[in-house]
Amino acid sequence: MIELAEVGLFVVLFAALFVGWVMGRSKSKKKPAAEKKSIPSDYFRGLNHLLNDQHSEAIDAFVDSLEVNSDTFDIHLTLGNLFRKKGEIQKAIHIHQSLLARPEISAREMRMVQLELASDFMSAGLLDRAGRLLLNMASTSRKSEFHPKILSLLVDLYEFEQSWDKAVQIGGELIKDKPSKKEIKRLAHFHCELAQDFHKKEQWKFALQSYKAALEVDSSCVRASIGIADVLDGQNRYRDAIKELKHAVEQDPDFISLIVPKLKDCYQNVWGSSGYIKFLQEQNEKKPATSLIMALAQHYMETDKEYAEMFLVEQLRKHPTLKGFKELINLQLDNEEGYSQQHLEVLYELIDQLVQAKHKYQCRQCGFAGHQLHWQCPSCKNWGTVKPIHGLEGE
Ligand SMILES: [Zn+2]
Repeated sequence: MIELAEVGLFVVLFAALFVGWVMGRSKSKKKPAAEKKSIPSDYFRGLNHLLNDQHSEAIDAFVDSLEVNSDTFDIHLTLGNLFRKKGEIQKAIHIHQSLLARPEISAREMRMVQLELASDFMSAGLLDRAGRLLLNMASTSRKSEFHPKILSLLVDLYEFEQSWDKAVQIGGELIKDKPSKKEIKRLAHFHCELAQDFHKKEQWKFALQSYKAALEVDSSCVRASIGIADVLDGQNRYRDAIKELKHAVEQDPDFISLIVPKLKDCYQNVWGSSGYIKFLQEQNEKKPATSLIMALAQHYMETDKEYAEMFLVEQLRKHPTLKGFKELINLQLDNEEGYSQQHLEVLYELIDQLVQAKHKYQCRQCGFAGHQLHWQCPSCKNWGTVKPIHGLEGE
């Protein structure tokens, strides 16, 4: 069966042949019959391979038969890209390097080929070669139309290498040159990655600086606010940490399940639980979430178990979730005896297993789901798109 990429290649090839035929016709009108160019033998070789279902050989032969000039330059470039996307990187490199060797291509076309070649090197894992080529291009084309694309590829490269300091530097240049929402978000996460490294080494000052740099780039970066709160918490600066955590909830209430336990710890170290409970109640009014409901129910349990149960039932009616239901059964367990208690225990275990099996986080971009929070989606590679799951099976 012919793969989709292969179908794409043939579409381009037939387009190439059509262009070649049109050009040949227009030229043949001007030339005497004796001067007509004969059809290159590579063309027949390609046709033969195609008829014998030898698709790779057919493509090679067609590429060889196609002359490089200003009309066919784009076709060569597209073919090279198709080879790269198909995973045939060596062929892509071969096409792009042959194009570079042609004396007739313009300076602009040369830049276009070099960009494609850099992508080929990256796909082949030749990161050093890609880096050298891109850095050389970046230094010689500061004002050219290709500069943002060169910087963007360099950022891709440093992101892949996890060279966060370089990614921060080039990412900063890129958003000055061509600011886009996606690049701004990505740059903020690079600052956070750097901050996380400093945090691990207990270099608090540098960690704070990097998290703040992330917020300067993207004021909506919830990861940076949570990170700052973690650093402040590590320095026993609980009041400041609480402010940051409250700010994080304002930035993105979807992360409430991450924030509530941290907030609880900080409040316990300074003001006891009154401010904490007030905050939970206010947030639950604004946007109900299981983490808030459970934290409140646990607090009410300490003083009034009956009220805690009533509260939980009322909240579950408005905001039904598996986790809430599990907690309700847990509360009921103490009220029952004998068989009823045993039945409830079985039910509790079943729901607990169901909750444990469910994914906690999901990418809002590609749907990838998992048990861990990844700031960069492992599937689509977007930053900040994986969030806690809400609804019946989540928050
Ligand atoms: Zn994704």
